[in-house]
Amino acid sequence: MGTLSCAEARDLASDLLDGDLGEDQVALVEAHVAGCATCPNLYLALVAIDNHFRRQRELGPGGSEGIDGDRAPAGP
Ligand SMILES: [Zn+2]
Repeated sequence: MGTLSCAEARDLASDLLDGDLGEDQVALVEAHVAGCATCPNLYLALVAIDNHFRRQRELGPGGSEGIDGDRAPAGP
């Protein structure tokens, strides 16, 4: 197994977020991100975007307030 180029890592990162990668590929992406100067920011941005859309999908149309859902008061 070699190391990934930045372009390859970014390609794989979007697949990773879709859950399409095997463990070894995930490890390759994470190893690249950990050792790269520029990819961590891109990777974090991808993760943030993915979380945003994933949450919107769960909430359905009109659920945009879900961005702050994790911090919503639980009660009383
Ligand atoms: Zn990189």
